[in-house]
Amino acid sequence: MIKSKLPEVSTTIFTIMSKLAAENNAINLAQGFPDFDADPKLINQLNYYASNHFNQYAPMFGVEKLRELLAEKYNTLYSCNYDFQDEINITSGASQAIFNVISTLIHPNDEVIIFEPAYDLYQPTVELFGGKIVPIELKYPDYKIDFNELNQKITSKTKLIIVNNPNNPTGRVLTEDDLKSFEKIITNNDCYLLADEVYEHITFDNKKHKSFTQLTTIKDKVFVVGSFGKLFHITGWKIGYILAEKELMIEFRKCHQFNTFSTHTPSQHAIADYLENPENYLYLNDFFQHKRDLFINNLSSTKFNILPCEGTYFLNANYSAISNLSDNEFATLLTKEYKVATIPVSAFYKNKIDNHVIRFCFAKKDETLLKAIEYLNKL
Ligand code: PMP
Ligand code: GLN
Repeated sequence: MIKSKLPEVSTTIFTIMSKLAAENNAINLAQGFPDFDADPKLINQLNYYASNHFNQYAPMFGVEKLRELLAEKYNTLYSCNYDFQDEINITSGASQAIFNVISTLIHPNDEVIIFEPAYDLYQPTVELFGGKIVPIELKYPDYKIDFNELNQKITSKTKLIIVNNPNNPTGRVLTEDDLKSFEKIITNNDCYLLADEVYEHITFDNKKHKSFTQLTTIKDKVFVVGSFGKLFHITGWKIGYILAEKELMIEFRKCHQFNTFSTHTPSQHAIADYLENPENYLYLNDFFQHKRDLFINNLSSTKFNILPCEGTYFLNANYSAISNLSDNEFATLLTKEYKVATIPVSAFYKNKIDNHVIRFCFAKKDETLLKAIEYLNKL
């Protein structure tokens, strides 16, 4: 028997619910991925590079043109200055970037602060390296950060604070004041910050994304992660990236080179070509706002209590007016009997806090969303 390094961990909720959706022929609004294709122009570029001998190892740092374009994009959008050679690295999805930051920083007994509900990757990865999770609850239903509590929970053992903005699953987006509070806290404490910004271009109602790359005074303590899966509707390509100040990047690369070494070559070239035109991502706010509004407007005919959604492609709803079941039981029932799969939000808490909330993914064709509403109206 293997002595498990993660004895309390089982299969991720995304895998469980996607499998249940497939077994029950249900509409999958659970796992976060689009059910529509990426732009054929991007696919053509991938075909081009794969057919034209771009099939051997990419550089360990990532394809140069892609890093140059990222440096330019971040400079234009956030007035920050990341050197494409020393401060940007392409990774195998944002997941690998996050895993690698944690492997770079965390020694046994280091404390890592996360905000719950939290994306499911953070906690087990920290524990894998002997770190201790210190969760701070984002209180239902506002899911706002309590900065007093954050200040109280920082100790001499705190090595890292992980922030996800825009937030999966809450759909909340941080304000400029929130970022200023983080800036002050990181300045005054001897710890690092990992900003998971994979939904950077999916914010609504003219709320502009505030990136941690804008906080130039704490650049030497911040890692910022992004994902082309979210940017270009290609979650299956698993290409992401990380921005970090030179000294941080030196240590990050020491681990990265033995973790995966480099990332899929033809995808990086195709993405680089596609990234040249900012219109290929600046339309995303409007594109997903239309889907959010279509889904919310139609969902209001049901008994769900819809929670605010300022960003990401996830919408939460409380079902207390429909059922007393636990969120796991309710999500299972919804999948099996009503043919709509969702994610029970208790899965994003260490202590499985259940506020009777489920998460819908609305990165779907309009017709898929309308079909799901038709089914949900039977509740
Ligand atoms: N962070 C968050 C908050 C996510 O929702 C996801 C989901 N895809 C990831 C990281 C991982 O991104 P990738 O698929 O690029 O590994
Ligand atoms: N990020 C996606 C979500 O939140 C899932 C990614 C995965 O399946 N690991 O649904």
